Amino acid sequence: MANLLVHGKYLLNPAQPGEKTAVVQDAAVAVTGTSIAAVGSYSALKKQYPDYREVGSNEYLILPGLIDVHHHGWGLSAIQQGALDDTLEPWIYDLLMLKSPTNVYLDTLYGNMKLLESGVTTVLHSHFCRTGNYEDEVNATLKAYETSGQRVALALEVMNQHPFAYDDDWFLQHLSVPLRTQVEAALKARPPMDRDTYLNLVEKYYTERNQEGAAKVKILYGPINAVWTTPDILEAIGERVQQGRGLHLHVVETPYQAEYFFKHYGKSNIAWLHEMHLLGPRTSFAHAVWTTRDDLALLAETGVTVCHNASSNLRLRSGIAPLAFMHERGVNIGVGTDGGTLNDDDDMVQELRLVSKLHRLPRPTSPWVSPHDVMRMATLNGARATLRADAIGRIEPGRAADIILVNLQTMTQPYLAPDIHMADAFVYRAKGTDVETVIIDGELVMENRTHLRFNKADLLAQLREAAAQPPTAQDLQRADLFRQCRPVCVEFLNQYLDREMAPQYVLNRTA
Ligand SMILES: [Zn+2]
Repeated sequence: MANLLVHGKYLLNPAQPGEKTAVVQDAAVAVTGTSIAAVGSYSALKKQYPDYREVGSNEYLILPGLIDVHHHGWGLSAIQQGALDDTLEPWIYDLLMLKSPTNVYLDTLYGNMKLLESGVTTVLHSHFCRTGNYEDEVNATLKAYETSGQRVALALEVMNQHPFAYDDDWFLQHLSVPLRTQVEAALKARPPMDRDTYLNLVEKYYTERNQEGAAKVKILYGPINAVWTTPDILEAIGERVQQGRGLHLHVVETPYQAEYFFKHYGKSNIAWLHEMHLLGPRTSFAHAVWTTRDDLALLAETGVTVCHNASSNLRLRSGIAPLAFMHERGVNIGVGTDGGTLNDDDDMVQELRLVSKLHRLPRPTSPWVSPHDVMRMATLNGARATLRADAIGRIEPGRAADIILVNLQTMTQPYLAPDIHMADAFVYRAKGTDVETVIIDGELVMENRTHLRFNKADLLAQLREAAAQPPTAQDLQRADLFRQCRPVCVEFLNQYLDREMAPQYVLNRTA
């Protein structure tokens, strides 16, 4: 692997909260092997490293590789597969009506490709089993990351309770007798995963694949959501989190999930997870939309990362997470595309723009997240959630060389006022397509928008063929069951909320 001298008109590094992003002008980064050796002026480093292969020019902006802290690795989006946006719970039914992917490797690699093309060098991948073949799927997923070259923190899933609604008895009682018989038979045919099976599975992958330091692969616990996981498993994970293991799960994505914990335990989801010893700096929570003010204090104190999914929350009617207040309290926040950005294209750069716009409350003194805050979220803050806080997320000597080059011409043409800060320009104006070159672990993986580790045209052709395979008999049977049950799920949600939840954001008024 050639040593590199990366050249740009500007280099940006995330700042401390409340400060502006640091800028180096006429910058260069010397990359020796997999690590950053030096950062400084181009003229000085060119003299110091005359033999290094030069990448970029003074027409580029140099940034740390972006970190997507919540994604399920789906290449083809839900819409491409046939499911339009809806409220989360019935939307999950729609997902379960889709046919299983015929080739998880190709689909995941396609997802990785889209993220790479918008500058994502590390992904927190929340595994969500879609084929019923758990280990085959995990192996195919890891193989896709081996091909794309991206770093991954892979959160291994378990979902072993309340598969149809948050109250099994209510749900079964409201089904017609023949449908109830069908549902009960389906539940018996595929019993949920038990505690030891899950813990052993994670242990196996952790022993075989988890690596220290920057490393390409980290293995995390990844129960999808505490509402869908039995407490015995969460308790066991709590012990391991206290011993330093990583955890990623969805929390209070919808008001119904928030209600579940108040109904069952008389406290918030976050307070309950805290009692289970699941909060800490190696824990990250996706969504966290329906968190309370007290929750925010707990998240800040314990060092949990909130993985913000702005587009996904809008698309699935989940609401708007109180990010401005989380940020004000000092919660570590990262950004995730969740396979469902506004343009349905997983463009991480445009997602950053949405995050910077969505939390603008009326009144000029209301807390907000500035473009500089968003830059930090997408880099250094995200690094913590993927358990690489000291290894990635900044361009400085000793850190792993994960670097992207953004075309300044396309971002600023035909003119940009010279006093506009480059971090503002990037968050306000750039698109994923402006990312031209991506370096991971010192290796050029995309140069001038050409992928160097796989052939994009071949991948698209193979995926097109795999995706066009007809559904199996099993797919059709599952789709039929969920289609029949779906109206009962909606009926369930309509009667489930017992309490008024006062909003944290006041965006308009009734009188
Ligand atoms: Zn998710």
